[in-house]
Amino acid sequence: MNNSKPHTAYFCMEYGLDEDMRIYAGGLGILAGDILKAAKEYSYPITGIGLLWKKGYSKQVINKDGRPVDKHPIQKRNYEHAVDTGEKVTVKIKDQTVTLKIWKVDKFDNATLYLLDANLAENKKFQNITDGLYDGFNEKRIAQEIVLGIGGVKAIRKLGLNIDIYHFNEGHAALAGTELIKEKMENGMDFHKAWKTVKDDIVFTTHTPVKEGNESHSLDSLEKMGAFNGLTREQMEELGDSPFGMTVAGLRLSRMSNGVAKLHGQTAREMWKDVEGKSPIISITNGVHRSTWVDKRIRDNIDNKEKIVENHQEMKNELVDYIKKVNGAQLDPNKLIIGFARRATAYKRPNLIFQKPDVIDPYLECGDIQLVFSGKAHPTDDNGKNIVANIVKKAKQFPNSVVFLEDYNMETGRMLTRGVDVWLNNPRKPLEASGTSGMKAAMNGGLNLSILDGWWVEGCEHGINGWQFGDGYEGEGQDESDLYALYRVLFNDVIPTFYANKDRWQDMMYESVQSTYERFSAKKMVERYYEEMYVSE
Ligand SMILES: *Cc1c(COP(=O)(O)O)cnc(C)c1O
Repeated sequence: MNNSKPHTAYFCMEYGLDEDMRIYAGGLGILAGDILKAAKEYSYPITGIGLLWKKGYSKQVINKDGRPVDKHPIQKRNYEHAVDTGEKVTVKIKDQTVTLKIWKVDKFDNATLYLLDANLAENKKFQNITDGLYDGFNEKRIAQEIVLGIGGVKAIRKLGLNIDIYHFNEGHAALAGTELIKEKMENGMDFHKAWKTVKDDIVFTTHTPVKEGNESHSLDSLEKMGAFNGLTREQMEELGDSPFGMTVAGLRLSRMSNGVAKLHGQTAREMWKDVEGKSPIISITNGVHRSTWVDKRIRDNIDNKEKIVENHQEMKNELVDYIKKVNGAQLDPNKLIIGFARRATAYKRPNLIFQKPDVIDPYLECGDIQLVFSGKAHPTDDNGKNIVANIVKKAKQFPNSVVFLEDYNMETGRMLTRGVDVWLNNPRKPLEASGTSGMKAAMNGGLNLSILDGWWVEGCEHGINGWQFGDGYEGEGQDESDLYALYRVLFNDVIPTFYANKDRWQDMMYESVQSTYERFSAKKMVERYYEEMYVSE
């Protein structure tokens, strides 16, 4: 029996470590970045494996007509933050050998992250596969997943890392399983024995409670791209079905898997109940890295209510100045500011609050409610872009009480979650897996106003550390029912408390910080990964 902690290789398509290193798109990457930082801070032996994206994710800005447009500039800084290890590995894509440089990043107080990079002239038509995060569908995406999964395992061998656990964070990394199986088969094991053996060392995290969000590929495409990696069609089908589900493969390749909040684990168990041979799905609730997301003034005064209140007002003033600078809008730091930032997509209902103008507009007119939005639509999601365009329109109508901040990124996220009074979240339940932005706001003294979905099911003490709204009804008329529920809590609780009961508001701020600071920390999350996923008897 070895008593030291197992060394985990953590595979992820994206990492949000710093706003100046644009190799992330959203929550998945922020989570991965926070895990590496907590691992470093609390001495857990985790090594990250990812891709060095030349252009990162879309830089999404608002054009003159008020619509979001995607820009894809080369992110030179991404390379400046990485150190060339001098090592390379190769993978086979289609009929071509593709060389991958291995870079290393450890300057952001993070556990070491190795990034693979195909951006070499010799790779000819495949040199652009690591250009844009999530810019590829079908064949290009498969090529990217070959790099992450198969290239990732090869890089681990090349670097001589002693890995005990392979953690596939989301289905993108599932092809790593084919490489681990192949290694065993090359040592004489048959396929099923090899699969059974590697399974002991693999864990998997699923994130997406939206069925269509779970990627799958036809076996033909996988074969054509070389993703079978020496396995047969029948063997690939056994791993991931036909079409080949990346999540299904993750569930079957692993010894243990998890959803990212209590409710999400339950949703995932229900969603994947028909997958034969899958690993048990437990729940490990996400957490956030506090030195990254909680302002130092708050961290230094965590038990001091007066200081928290005072510091929060400073952060709110800073947010108002920041908005003035980047957007031109002038908010009033003495009036209520509500923040909402997340991917702009229909089920998250970013513009729910605007749906009854006769109810909400008078508050926007007088400025008693000020709303700050941010969020990108997926570059191919026209509906998401319409949602953004509608918010921008609303901001034109109420220039000093509705704001849309373009190109949502770690900087906007940091400013917003530190400075707002209220963090609003109204997804169509149960489609929010966890959500970590609300945790950031809560720890900084912001109050969550949210549907009981994702992490808030665990975190909410209604009227004490924030509010929940809606009765959990799912079905026809759900949007309208949720809208009225939102208005009810907003007008009966939030507004009167903010404007007429400062003491109560300040008590709630303090409770918000106290009730979340330990429980939803990345420290707690990584501890749980070790206890419940990585360590086997
Ligand atoms: C925290 C964060 C996220 C994830 O937050 P959700 O609540 O899951 O939407 C996404 N993007 C940025 C920039 C963040 O800071």
